Amino acid sequence: MLALALIAAPGRAIAADHFTPLSARVLHAPEPVRGGDGRMHLAYELVLANDSAFPPGPVTVRRIIARAAGKPVETLAGAELEEMMEPFGVVNERTPRTTIQPGGTAKVLMDVSYPAGAPIPRRLDHEIVLSPGPPAAVELSRFTAAPTAVRKRPAVIVAPPLRGPGWVVINGCCAQNTSHRRSLLAIDGGLHAGERYAIDFVQMTPAGQLTEGPADQLASYPFYGDEVLSATAGKVVGVVDRLPDGPINFALPPITAGDAGGNHVVVAMGGGRYAFYAHLVPGSVRVKVGERVRPGQVLGLLGNSGNSNAPHLHFQLMDGPSPLGSEGIPYRFSSFTAEGTLADFPQFFVGGAAARLAGSPRGPRHAELPLNLQIVGLGP
Ligand SMILES: [Zn+2]
Repeated sequence: MLALALIAAPGRAIAADHFTPLSARVLHAPEPVRGGDGRMHLAYELVLANDSAFPPGPVTVRRIIARAAGKPVETLAGAELEEMMEPFGVVNERTPRTTIQPGGTAKVLMDVSYPAGAPIPRRLDHEIVLSPGPPAAVELSRFTAAPTAVRKRPAVIVAPPLRGPGWVVINGCCAQNTSHRRSLLAIDGGLHAGERYAIDFVQMTPAGQLTEGPADQLASYPFYGDEVLSATAGKVVGVVDRLPDGPINFALPPITAGDAGGNHVVVAMGGGRYAFYAHLVPGSVRVKVGERVRPGQVLGLLGNSGNSNAPHLHFQLMDGPSPLGSEGIPYRFSSFTAEGTLADFPQFFVGGAAARLAGSPRGPRHAELPLNLQIVGLGP
């Protein structure tokens, strides 16, 4: 205690320590990106751990309030919190997803957004409100935690990696709990969200359907084999082209982390950014490690290799060459045409139904990241 007293500013008391039932941290400081809704999005994750030991017990998170300069900017509670929070590992359907057992951990997928032109805060922190489980000696059920800087760097502008109308943004950013957003993975001993801003592109037929013919045949997906284009200039630093196209089904087999992307290409863009194009057709990759590529150059063909349950292009940018062992970073497409938003994803994707589209926005968009379930026309 003597040491603490010595470093205190003269005349100012040090705030007392308190036992809190949880610890919380931000996995990776958010980078703002303008989304296809015209708003600026800060997508990031909180990692919560129930470290309470006096005595140990379950805790239930009631509310998480993201704050900038002490003012609330986003509140997650109720059904929305249940949607965006989940434990690491197996989800136990019998306990609420907002309850964390002693020693347990959970993630919360945050999307703080601002109207275009509004000032973006330089820092955020979080007020966490919870109810401890059985009577506990923990002192605080409302506390401030998980401060983070907000990065200033603008999201890079890239070319779309595909051409044509009717591309559906599956598992896109930011406000929904998608397989990309919840993929906080332990890779080579670190926790990473490489797929934070990833998009799985599939293309609607002119009739608004996913397939023409039986859904278990590759040939029924008219966009299977479409050319995948480099979104950027850069140098190829990773290529895999030896894996078969997998069967089409909706229960993915376990697969190694290194093979999850199937046949793929990684391009170093410079500035610490890398682009990743995954699930390509076996034998279709047209570039080699060390080769320089230009925007629009064909890298390979859209396929169904690796961790893929139907043909699609998985596209993402990340801050290192490892697709899963890096942090996903945002990007914007130079231009695209907004064609609406898919309103009935399960019926479209597994039910064989024609897409039902929700309204806005429609028309040309520039320098934005298309958001989850937006339908976009790409290329000239
Ligand atoms: Zn994906």
